[in-house]
Amino acid sequence: MSTERIKLRKWQRIFVNRSLNMGSIRALGFDMDHTLAHYNREAFEALAFRETVRKFVLSGYPRELEKLTFKPHFLIRGLLVDRERGNLLKVDGHKYVKIAFHGRRKLDKEERHKLYNSESFKAQEFVSVDTFFALSEVQLFVEIVDYMEANPGKIKKSYREVYDDLRKFIDLSHQDGSIKNEVIRNLDRYMSPDKQLAKTLLMQIEAGKSLFLLTNSNYEYTNAVMGHALDGVSADFPSWRDFFDVVIVGAGKPGFFMGSQPFYQVIPESNLLKPHDGPLAKGAIYHGGNVRLFQKLMGYRGDEILYVGDHIYGDIIRSKGIVNWRTMLVVEELDHELELLEKSRPELERIKTRFEDREALEERLQILRSKIANNYRHAEKATEHGDLRKAKHLRRENDKLTRKALSMERELETNDLELRSLMDHRERKIHPVWGELMRVGFERSRFADQVEDYACIYTSRLSNLRFYSPFKRYHATTDALPHDS
Ligand SMILES: [Mg+2]
Repeated sequence: MSTERIKLRKWQRIFVNRSLNMGSIRALGFDMDHTLAHYNREAFEALAFRETVRKFVLSGYPRELEKLTFKPHFLIRGLLVDRERGNLLKVDGHKYVKIAFHGRRKLDKEERHKLYNSESFKAQEFVSVDTFFALSEVQLFVEIVDYMEANPGKIKKSYREVYDDLRKFIDLSHQDGSIKNEVIRNLDRYMSPDKQLAKTLLMQIEAGKSLFLLTNSNYEYTNAVMGHALDGVSADFPSWRDFFDVVIVGAGKPGFFMGSQPFYQVIPESNLLKPHDGPLAKGAIYHGGNVRLFQKLMGYRGDEILYVGDHIYGDIIRSKGIVNWRTMLVVEELDHELELLEKSRPELERIKTRFEDREALEERLQILRSKIANNYRHAEKATEHGDLRKAKHLRRENDKLTRKALSMERELETNDLELRSLMDHRERKIHPVWGELMRVGFERSRFADQVEDYACIYTSRLSNLRFYSPFKRYHATTDALPHDS
């Protein structure tokens, strides 16, 4: 395919963790929210924040909470929430806490170390900020923690109890329609469709692949959101439903991959469900179901399906781990981050040089220190044996060497300060509070480890598929062992 020969920018590329031959993929499945459907995240998250604050106040929390405002750029995905202490953590792949906040106050090194790194903690006790939906939820938690710090006694609950209420109110806002109805009424405000989506899907269809939609949203919401993204975009496929051989709503992922729920058929006119038996018909809408029945009815093996989603837990871990579907993860943040990372490449080079300088300096300093220690020993011995001239000579040399060591230590300190400031500056450019999504300093973040472990391929947006042939063999390049280089 000629497009592949064009040099793609990083944010247009698809990255490979595990080799994947698209030639043996017969069906492509898609999650909806943040995969097929792009949100204006700020508008949507602010809406979820407001609706949830309302529920707090209605249930007896102080009215003052209504003054809290949503701050869209404070959080990133991949963080952990310590519900007991009201803290937010960014950890590396070894679960070492590198950055921690209490509300919006940053913990200093000692505090952080005392709480988290002096003994190993269990990451499973913390809530992982995996989805974009979780961002507004956790942002509200942060604001309430700050409120409780500034107004002691006004909320007579523990951080943990507040978080449990928060979960309850968020779920309620999703169930009672206060969020979804508002989105359906103002799709232009909350959604920002990818203009390349239809073209991307058509390329796969023309290559003979079967497409299906698998979402946890209900039919009414799915119909509105997908209609907004795809209706009337293609002359041959006038309705969004024409793109998909099978549409499954209310799938209850990750339960879909583990359970044995039956399929129901949705009657679109009435939005009612009726029990379904037999094959899944093209053009029909189904609700619920489970993966084993789905594969049986469609006649696919697990590894003939590529599932594309944005939720590492709900979409990717279960589908790959339990039924061996091949997986593609959409990591929307990379769109913006990869561009910034490319721009900050000269800075990265400077940082690397500083690192090399430090290593060389440290090595020279150690050689010097051992020489000083040796001289000292020899001088002692010479004194014992009455060779005072030799002892004096060695001590004089040591004075010189010690002055040199001191000046090298100062040089090392300056170098470290400059290195720290270069690294901080670069990280702040990428995200002012938390730095890179996939890294903490030079270590890989826990989020990066999960992406590597569970996604066969990953990219910043689904429509990047259009830059590659539908029969492309994606080769992993990360299988290198330390002794290969
Ligand atoms: Mg999603």
